[in-house]
Amino acid sequence: MAETLDPITITVTRSMRVIDALETLNRTGMGLLLLVDATGALERTVTDGDIRRLLLGGARVEATLNELGSQPPVTLQSGWTRRAAHLLMNQHGIHHIPLVDATGHVSAVIDRRAVDEVIYLSSPHMGDSEREFIDDAFRTNWIAPLGPNVDQFESEFAEMLGMPHAAALSSGTAALHLALCILGVGTGDLVFCSSLTFAASANPIAYQGAVPIFIDSEASSWNMSPEALEDAFAWAVAEGRMPKAVIAVDIYGQSADMDRIMSICRRHHVPVVEDAAESLGARYKDRPSGTFGDMSIFSFNGNKIITTSGGGMLVSRNPEYVRRARFLATQARDSARHYEHSVIGFNYRMSNILAGVGRGQLRMLPDRVESRRRVFRHYQEALAGIDGVSWMPEPTWSRSSRWLSVATVDPIRCGRTTSDVIDALAAEFIEARHVWKPMHLQPVFAGSRYFPHPSGSVSDALFRDGICLPSGSNMTDAQIDRVVEEVRRVLVR
Ligand SMILES: *Cc1c(COP(=O)(O)O)cnc(C)c1O
Repeated sequence: MAETLDPITITVTRSMRVIDALETLNRTGMGLLLLVDATGALERTVTDGDIRRLLLGGARVEATLNELGSQPPVTLQSGWTRRAAHLLMNQHGIHHIPLVDATGHVSAVIDRRAVDEVIYLSSPHMGDSEREFIDDAFRTNWIAPLGPNVDQFESEFAEMLGMPHAAALSSGTAALHLALCILGVGTGDLVFCSSLTFAASANPIAYQGAVPIFIDSEASSWNMSPEALEDAFAWAVAEGRMPKAVIAVDIYGQSADMDRIMSICRRHHVPVVEDAAESLGARYKDRPSGTFGDMSIFSFNGNKIITTSGGGMLVSRNPEYVRRARFLATQARDSARHYEHSVIGFNYRMSNILAGVGRGQLRMLPDRVESRRRVFRHYQEALAGIDGVSWMPEPTWSRSSRWLSVATVDPIRCGRTTSDVIDALAAEFIEARHVWKPMHLQPVFAGSRYFPHPSGSVSDALFRDGICLPSGSNMTDAQIDRVVEEVRRVLVR
């Protein structure tokens, strides 16, 4: 529910003179009076317009409000939602609605500004320097893809990660696609991929005509289960058909257990692409997340921890991989006097303007990580003790960026499902989401082979019960409190 205004100052009776009503309207600036009867119950509302029509109809300013006709007021009752208030306000073209109790007494007046404030899951958060880098691009007319901001963004990004090479691209998806191309993934090849992830992790497998095999999560990190990965390799060995690559995803700001995953993959001589689109700024055993795969990719989509509105990065210790990524991303043009092409290329480079946004954003990354962790801690503390609510765990080897604050809601212990909570929050203009629907459950990947964790599928349970709460680094304490209040309202009875 929204913040409300004290109704006392705008409550009037029919004995009030029109001139005094005008004066009250003028003083309170709300454009609204509450006309109550002898019992104090709301009889009707009086607006500027009502008074104007009264005077134009010939009433004198010394007359009383007895001159006004009756008119049923638009009101809200307890249990109202922001969505209901918003609809009523639009329907009647008004900005305030009295909240009345069963006896018709007004307890508060709901203000449109408080009603309309939407809290988003993860909205862009600009710093102070993005514009300078963009202005620079305009001033020097470097509007094209490529240019000094791109070169600087790549080197600053690589340096921040402690990696030698990085290629700035048009999206995280493009980065993944290039990584698979570079590893030679083609038609009919197998690629192992985390199941609990966004579709963008797996789609590039299909772009290449390859066959995805999905790997479950472990409960302790929600990321790829090393045990399930071992099972998948055992199957591949038995089949005599090894995967061409493994895509290991770091979800919701937390690294996978990369030492174990890398050692399994090394043993089988299969390269790893680390999808760190969601884990920029996180750490694994004191090293930055996204520095473990043979290639790693990042995303700067609008909802990620830092954003260029759209963009991605491919990093690697192998200079040949990154050189190849830049080559393929610029239409695979051979070095020749004319336009010469020996392989199929893509238009996947980042523009110099967006790289300017990225440079500004990158400076803010440590701040953004702290803010997101603070949002998570706030929820965890304020919602502690609600039976059946559990928070995404953080293993001792992990320092999550808490890109999203994610919890599970046990439907038995809570008596409410995740969908119930999401719907209740939506009615209050708070954006919450289900946890990723695992890829092995997606219609588009139906029939794909799936290796669950040995004790049973973890990702199925996380999908059923998981909820992502608003997590933006630009959230105010009041907004976090609003989310907390609504979650408590649904889950605490
Ligand atoms: C966002 C995301 C991507 C894709 O990045 P884009 O820049 O949006 O193309 C890939 N994988 C994961 C896990 C993501 O969350």
